[in-house]
Amino acid sequence: MAQLPRFFSPTAAGTYRQCPLRWKYRYIDKLPDPPGEPALVGTFAHRVLEHLCDEPADDRTHDRAKELAGEAWRWISTRDDFAALGLDAAAERRFRWKAWTAIDALWQLEDPARVAVRSTEQHISTTLDKVPFRGVIDRLDDADDGLVVTDYKSGKPPRRDRRNEALAQVLLYAAAVEADTGERPVRARLLFLGGNREIVETRVDDALLATTTGNLTTTWAALEGDCATDTFAPSPGPLCGWCAYVGTCEEGRSEVMQRAAAGRLRDDAPARQVLDISGA
Ligand code: SF4
Repeated sequence: MAQLPRFFSPTAAGTYRQCPLRWKYRYIDKLPDPPGEPALVGTFAHRVLEHLCDEPADDRTHDRAKELAGEAWRWISTRDDFAALGLDAAAERRFRWKAWTAIDALWQLEDPARVAVRSTEQHISTTLDKVPFRGVIDRLDDADDGLVVTDYKSGKPPRRDRRNEALAQVLLYAAAVEADTGERPVRARLLFLGGNREIVETRVDDALLATTTGNLTTTWAALEGDCATDTFAPSPGPLCGWCAYVGTCEEGRSEVMQRAAAGRLRDDAPARQVLDISGA
């Protein structure tokens, strides 16, 4: 019998839904799952935006963001996970450019000097429908119509038919805020800072909260079952190409090899390097 985790985050729930075996490798076996370059670009941009929004409103300027980006660069460039990317000088410049492009995108979506920020990087742990929930909320704002949950995404916005799925994370944060404080946020938003910059948002209502919390409960129940029997099924698919455990997982390796042979494995899939598969 595997030990149930003490807390369940939206990230952990997403990993489990994608592939129970991947969840086990990461959360039970604690095998390393180092962030790739896109994740570290996101970490860099998040840090700058967090510190920018901690400033008094009038100081949330481009110039201040540039100073904070300099500090964030000194912070991230000394981390082991950054060193593990093995970037040369040109690649480091591209990394900084990508991060700055994401930071700069904030001004195309909203003027941070006009946002009434209540808190940034707020850690929250509570119980949602008997599930021990934990998360970190990028930003809580006091808007004219009430409290707003905001989360930054450094990637591109999802397709229209996947937006509700993407909003599940911020809806869970809204449910957690209400469970913890009694105050229900009125809106939940995702600020996409990469590609086509866009705010994807929804109003928070009973039906959405019930659906999102219900999905979390269903996922938790499935996880409880897997932990009780200590069986975590692999769920091979396109994302095996980006799974840190593809060198360990037989099903994932087989999936990736088949995709590569059929010309259906993207050239930028990290699994190519792990499994020594040459490009198309
Ligand atoms: S390689 Fe694929 S099947 Fe294997 S653990 Fe990773 S995501 Fe799951």
